[in-house]
Amino acid sequence: MADQYTVTDPTKMYADIDTTAQYQDGPGLDADLDNPADLGEETYRGSGRLRDRKALVTGGDSGIGAATVIAFAREGADVVISYLPEEEKDAQRIKSLVEQAGRKAVLAPGDLTDERYCTSLVETTVRELGGIDIVVSNGGRQQHVEDLADLSYEQFDDTFKTNVYALFWIVKAALPHLQPGSAIIGTSSIQAYQPSPNLLDYATTKAAINTFCKGLAQQVGPKGIRVNVVAPGPVWTPLQTAGGQPQEELPEFGQSTPLGRAGQPADLAPAFVYLASAESSFVSGETLHVNGGMPTP
Ligand code: NAD
Ligand code: MG
Repeated sequence: MADQYTVTDPTKMYADIDTTAQYQDGPGLDADLDNPADLGEETYRGSGRLRDRKALVTGGDSGIGAATVIAFAREGADVVISYLPEEEKDAQRIKSLVEQAGRKAVLAPGDLTDERYCTSLVETTVRELGGIDIVVSNGGRQQHVEDLADLSYEQFDDTFKTNVYALFWIVKAALPHLQPGSAIIGTSSIQAYQPSPNLLDYATTKAAINTFCKGLAQQVGPKGIRVNVVAPGPVWTPLQTAGGQPQEELPEFGQSTPLGRAGQPADLAPAFVYLASAESSFVSGETLHVNGGMPTP
């Protein structure tokens, strides 16, 4: 089994996980992926880098967010997990993995397009974990549309609310609670730099996330709060099978990266751990690319 500790050929890692031409309705579930993604369940080893930290992770039920939650718990953090109610099955599984790591997981389902829910996530974290010092905005929506004429107001609005407004609402609510040493992490994408023609709304939100976080990093730096971004490339998650890509393109997903494969959520989690931990104490306003080698400006 591939892991992030053994030096192996990165082009050959996860060769046992195929990306298949699968379609899932709604937000999609990790539990229903034809070829289950690797969230690091069997492999991630913590070393106390987030001991007693208090984290909020949106989209922490599946994919990149779930791998991040598992890693955070094994590094010693308690976590509030945000997700949609229809993802309860995935969320319950991640909660039990957090508990197996000896940490607290609080499940907080709801809709990120609702400002009151976003604000409540911060209140829940402060109440249930006794504070908040890591904010990971990772929940996101991606639906491909081939022609601008077919891109509806509703989709455009929903993508912006989920990907950008939720970040704004959550960070705004969290800031009064964040003490020096706290970390905010946004989730961008290679799409911010190389937008696909069928992901206009999504790619635009991912550029906005980068810019928002770089600006905010300057604003809150003097308060001792760092703001950074992880920008994944193609990663095998339910997002892609639930309308993120045309179904027929999924078998080739990730193969055009220099490393020639799709990423797994387990490839991403260490980047979030780094940016949350004190190891990145002099890093702020940065975007960390974990994308299989695609050049970015
Ligand atoms: P994922 O489907 O596993 O995670 C996305 C999560 O977003 C869902 O689990 C869901 O809980 C949450 N979400 C979506 N809409 C929501 C809403 N209205 N209310 C509450 N929660 C909502 O997929 P993932 O690929 O792990 O996505 C995580 C992040 O990574 C996203 O921001 C995505 O844009 C980004 N990303 C993914 C890839 C990739 O190839 N998978 C590439 C670049 C960036
Ligand atoms: Mg999910």
